[in-house]
Amino acid sequence: MSKSQVYFAPSKVKRMHVSHTLPAKIDRVLRDDIDLKSIVGGKRTVIKVHLGADRIYTTVHPVLVRQIVSHVKEAGGKPIVVHSWGAVDAATRGYSTETLGCPVIPMNGTTEKYYYSHKLEDYPYLNEVLVSGEVQDAEAMIVVSHVKGHGNTGMGAALKNVGIGMLAGPSRGWIHQQVGQIPYWNESACKTEQPCNTCLETCPVDAIHWGGPNKDELHVDFHMCTFCNKCVEACPVDALLLNVDELYGSFQRGMTRGAKEVLGTFEPKSVLYVNYLMNITPWCDCHGFSTPSITQDVGVLISDDPVAIDQATFDLLKDAELFEEAIPDDLQPIYEGSIFQRFLGTAKDPQYQMIEAEKLGLGSRGYDLVSVESDE
Ligand code: SF4
Ligand code: SF4
Repeated sequence: MSKSQVYFAPSKVKRMHVSHTLPAKIDRVLRDDIDLKSIVGGKRTVIKVHLGADRIYTTVHPVLVRQIVSHVKEAGGKPIVVHSWGAVDAATRGYSTETLGCPVIPMNGTTEKYYYSHKLEDYPYLNEVLVSGEVQDAEAMIVVSHVKGHGNTGMGAALKNVGIGMLAGPSRGWIHQQVGQIPYWNESACKTEQPCNTCLETCPVDAIHWGGPNKDELHVDFHMCTFCNKCVEACPVDALLLNVDELYGSFQRGMTRGAKEVLGTFEPKSVLYVNYLMNITPWCDCHGFSTPSITQDVGVLISDDPVAIDQATFDLLKDAELFEEAIPDDLQPIYEGSIFQRFLGTAKDPQYQMIEAEKLGLGSRGYDLVSVESDE
C-alpha cells in the first residue's frame, strides 16, 4: 500500500512572534498544503469534535476549533460542529455558536434517536451499526481529535473519534459490551470454591466486582484491567482466563468496523483528519474531568488518512517522557511499552486499532511526515 502524507505542525515556538505559533502553522497547512476547497467546497460539512462533559478543560480549545470553522468557510464549505447529546451544554465549557462561528448541535439529536441503521452480514461480532444522522447527512467532514490515553484502545485519536464517536448511543454500548460476551469466567468452577474473593483481593486496580441481579456474577472492568494476569494466577480453581486478543481485540474490531460504516457514507477525498497532540491526559474525555498532562505538548497532525494520522500520532508519542507525577494514584506507571502502555498495561497496544483499520482498507500505516514551520 502506498504511503500517505501526514502534515506535522510542532507546538514548539521558535521565535516569540505570533507568526511562529501553532495556529499560524495550522493556517499554513490548511491554506497552502491541503486543497481544502476540493474537500469541503459547497458542501454541508460536519466538524466532529469531542466537546467533553461536566468539568473537563483539556479538550481541543475553542480558539483552535474556531480556526477550523473559519477555514471551512473560506474554502466555501457550510460548517456545523457536531458532538453527542453533550453538545447541548457545551457552551458551559466554551463551545457555542458565538465562540465557534457556526451551529453546534448534537449529532444524533438530543435523545440519541437520530441515526441510520447499517446491517452487518459479514461480521461475527456485531449485527448492526447505528451511524449518526447528522454525520451521514453531511457531504464532507473534518474529524477534530484530542489525543489521549484510553482504557479500551490504549490511545484515543481519529479512529476512535470516528468508530465510536460517530455512532448513536446504543451502538457505542454494543461495542463496549462485546467484550462482556466473550467467556472469561468459569462460573461452575468458581462456585465450588465459594466463599472466595481471592481474585478481587489480588487485583491491583480494583477491576473485578460481583455484579448481576443477585450480585453473584463475576465481572471484570476491561477499561481498568491492565491484563497483568495476577487474578488468573491467584485463582485456586483456574476459573479465569483473560485472552488479550479476544477481549481487548474485540473492542478494536468493533470500533474499526464501526469506522468503516461511518466513512462509507462519504465520497472519496471528502474527509480530513486533524489530531491535536496537546493536553494529553490518561483517559477519554467522556469521563468529564481533566488531569495534568502526562507529557509535553507535541503539536498538530493533519492528513486525509485516518490510519496514517493515528500511526504517526502513536510514533511521535510512544517514547515521549511520561510525567509520572501527573498520573493519578489509582493508575500505576509500572509497565513496559509506549507512554500509554506504561500505565494502561503492556497488553494494551494502541497500534492494534491501526492494524485492524488497515485490514479493513481504511488507510495505510505507512506515511511520510511533512513538518511545517512558520512562513517567516
Ligand atoms: S488481569 Fe490484572 S488488572 Fe486485570 S482483572 Fe486480573 S488482576 Fe486485575
Ligand atoms: S479467585 Fe477464582 S474461585 Fe475465587 S472468586 Fe475469583 S474466580 Fe472465583
